[in-house]
Amino acid sequence: MWKLEVENGIESVFAKWNFQPQLLMGAGPSNCSPRTTNALTMEILSPVALDMYKIMDDIQCMLKHTFQTKNRLTLAIQSSGHGALESILTNLVNPGEKIIVAVGGVWGKRTVAIAQNYGIEVITLSCTPGEIYNFKDLEKQIMKHKPVLLFITHGESSAGTCQPLDGLGKICHKYNCLLAVDAVASFGGVPLFIDKWEIDAVAAGSQKAISAPPGMAFLSFSERAEQLMRAKKVPPPFYFDVIALGETWNCFGNPRKYHYTYGSHLLMSVREALMQLIEEGVLETWKRHEVCAKRLWNGLEQIGLELFVEKEENRLFTVASVIVPKDVKWPVLLDYISGKHHIDISFGLGPTAHTCIRVGSMGYNATYEKVDTVLKALEDGLKYCRSENG
Ligand code: PMP
Repeated sequence: MWKLEVENGIESVFAKWNFQPQLLMGAGPSNCSPRTTNALTMEILSPVALDMYKIMDDIQCMLKHTFQTKNRLTLAIQSSGHGALESILTNLVNPGEKIIVAVGGVWGKRTVAIAQNYGIEVITLSCTPGEIYNFKDLEKQIMKHKPVLLFITHGESSAGTCQPLDGLGKICHKYNCLLAVDAVASFGGVPLFIDKWEIDAVAAGSQKAISAPPGMAFLSFSERAEQLMRAKKVPPPFYFDVIALGETWNCFGNPRKYHYTYGSHLLMSVREALMQLIEEGVLETWKRHEVCAKRLWNGLEQIGLELFVEKEENRLFTVASVIVPKDVKWPVLLDYISGKHHIDISFGLGPTAHTCIRVGSMGYNATYEKVDTVLKALEDGLKYCRSENG
């Protein structure tokens, strides 16, 4: 007879627990629409079921449309945004090769760390916190260092900045350098044109402006990038092998090959989320994010709060960094808003750590109603922090 030897207080798992759903108005994830959440309850499919392939085809078609690209190597991977960054770096760059990473906050730094883990030589650029890069400076650095790739963050959610990209691909290509973009925090909420802007590799996430559950990431590679990938000497990590995944996604017209088991429920929820975006319209969705962001910025100023990113044209529509007034303790403010209003707002990270909070309005949560709700909660939270109790 077997006898269990380790107990580890397992009974606590079964104790009563008051789960409190939150309105997610931070730097991501955002809440899913009921339609997207419902899709998670579908029966599980085999990874090689014909229905699975139909779901994948639909996702790929909608990703191409939303990315504004004809890239055949466009697909979703089962990973969070980090996996998409890791996929780009490990499928395009050999150890010992040189890349430039234009860092604007925590996410650029993560890209540097991932690249260094794989023995890639990284030239790290930095800019003033809350500012963006100008193309002349980037061109000088490309001329000087001759990297195989320039990696830049589109929506730097740790700072609240949005890096313009139109024209940068052309500059990179003059010097035989590829352009890779982290669009995890911007995709679906900010204009992005992969083909027109000559972007070679894009990483995007499911859980922010797309409002699908976390756990899926999206990738798209140009023909140039695909060629480089096929010529790469050192193979990528097995799990992130984009060419192998491209076979699963029927990117090359060959019979599909199984690489790993995708969660059909996750894919189905991504399909539903993308369908809602397409039904609304890509341009209309970008516009909704813009008008909601502007309502949020104005509202924040009206309750006496200041934005970290001074120039409006540099601000990210999906996430705003808000300076915490000197007489307010941000942990008290965020705890109060979470406990009393059931709203999740993010603390500062990287350039905004300890000085800012980050308020998001993205995807399903980018509505005037939710923006007004978070503004009211912030106003109440500030009052609380400035009272005797705070
Ligand atoms: N890049 C950016 C710009 C992000 O905002 C995030 C998530 N905050 C990531 C990468 C990492 O994504 P994930 O947490 O899904 O791995």
